[in-house]
Amino acid sequence: MIYADTAATTKLHPDAYKAMMPYLDARYFNPSGVYQNGVDIRRAINKAHASIGRALSCKANEIFITSGGTEADNWAIKQFMCDGPGHIITSSIEHKAVLNSCATLQKMGWEITYLPVDKNGFVSPADLDAAIRSDTKLVSIMLANNEVGTIEPIKELCTVTHSHGVPFHTDAVQAVGHIPINVNELGVDFLSLSAHKFGGPKGTGALYVRQGKIATFIDGGGQEMGRRSGTENVPGIIGTAAAIEIATSHLLCDMAKLSAKRDRLINGIISLDGVMLSGAPAGEHRLPGHASFIIHGVDSETLVMDLALKGICVSAGSACSSGTGKPSYVLRAMGYTEKEAWCSLRITIDLSTTLAEVDEIVTAVTGSINKNRKEVHT
Ligand code: PLP
Repeated sequence: MIYADTAATTKLHPDAYKAMMPYLDARYFNPSGVYQNGVDIRRAINKAHASIGRALSCKANEIFITSGGTEADNWAIKQFMCDGPGHIITSSIEHKAVLNSCATLQKMGWEITYLPVDKNGFVSPADLDAAIRSDTKLVSIMLANNEVGTIEPIKELCTVTHSHGVPFHTDAVQAVGHIPINVNELGVDFLSLSAHKFGGPKGTGALYVRQGKIATFIDGGGQEMGRRSGTENVPGIIGTAAAIEIATSHLLCDMAKLSAKRDRLINGIISLDGVMLSGAPAGEHRLPGHASFIIHGVDSETLVMDLALKGICVSAGSACSSGTGKPSYVLRAMGYTEKEAWCSLRITIDLSTTLAEVDEIVTAVTGSINKNRKEVHT
């Protein structure tokens, strides 16, 4: 089996697994306990906050653990809910965790502006500047897109947003652990991340909050500095910290190696007839392990199923929107026709993918395209 769907989820890193194990077993104590074993767990949680903070160049008390990227996005978007209806700006290619959070606010009387993107999936800082109003409460633009791998110009978008005195959130779920992130260089006020996208456990993530200033999301016993109560998911928190340390320890070197594999994959596939790359061109504005295509004349589901039969795990686009019976809204927003948006293929790899596997994927995709195009025409 060749697993090439790492944008959907990644394998738990063996060292993250090792770090978590004691907390699923002997170190089961309540982190709020006043006895020594409880105090030790609290220390381990605090250390984990600090590790996550170091990876983003922020303080430990600016990291709030969540149940994953979806929750972090919900919290960031809904934080001003009690301040009465206002205006939020986002993009038309965000993950559903952001779009559906905005939709909920819309039902409560909020107005939402969905910024357009260009053919490569980029949001324009000028469009953002023109969209900001006196009642805009938040701008939320993703750092990297899950379907097409485009890395948005967050620093510029943030500068524009701040020039109007408005705070900025970014969904960095696809980016953390894959490209260097410094919240101060970017200037963001809120940033969402998810552990299972960089070798950590599923069901754990975090929201970075500048100076820790955010409304409480879950009321209860006061965990996570009183903002997100509930007995902590200790193994998840420890695993997230271990995974982020591993993922960021040799990041520049890993990125160079992975981008070379990605480029070999992209070049092999776009050399085929009727195939084009979707999203940003291979280079610094594209995620290092991300390749996505429009394959004319072959329906995505057929292609993905055919590759699955050959033992190759890829996807048609977003992990979360497959099976909706609708073509990708991301590709539609990028200007692809409905027909083209049905013909997408996403292949996402990591450092464990070998060059031989990359070549095997190219050969298998070539065979599947030829076979299925033939079937369409006969
Ligand atoms: N945001 C983006 C860009 C994603 O790709 C995903 C997951 O695919 C999420 C948010 C949701 O993250 P989680 O699976 O941790 O809830």
